[in-house]
Amino acid sequence: MVKERIVPCTKKKRGVVLPVCLICEQTPPDGIAGGILVSGRFLCAACEDEIVHTRVGDSRYSHLKDKVKRIWARVK
Ligand SMILES: [Zn+2]
Repeated sequence: MVKERIVPCTKKKRGVVLPVCLICEQTPPDGIAGGILVSGRFLCAACEDEIVHTRVGDSRYSHLKDKVKRIWARVK
């Protein structure tokens, strides 16, 4: 008799880049496919969309602007 066993999947995918979004600091479920790379920095699709739709004067605008600046800022 063969007993069924639930084997936890502990294997991690190798070679898969899991980028962290510059703005929300989250990794989208799709990984690198869930966003864009700007100057080597990753921006998830949700934040990209937010930037596109945020207008000057919006309460989120200055917050986003500061975050976006980090794309071009040199990080040592
Ligand atoms: Zn994001």
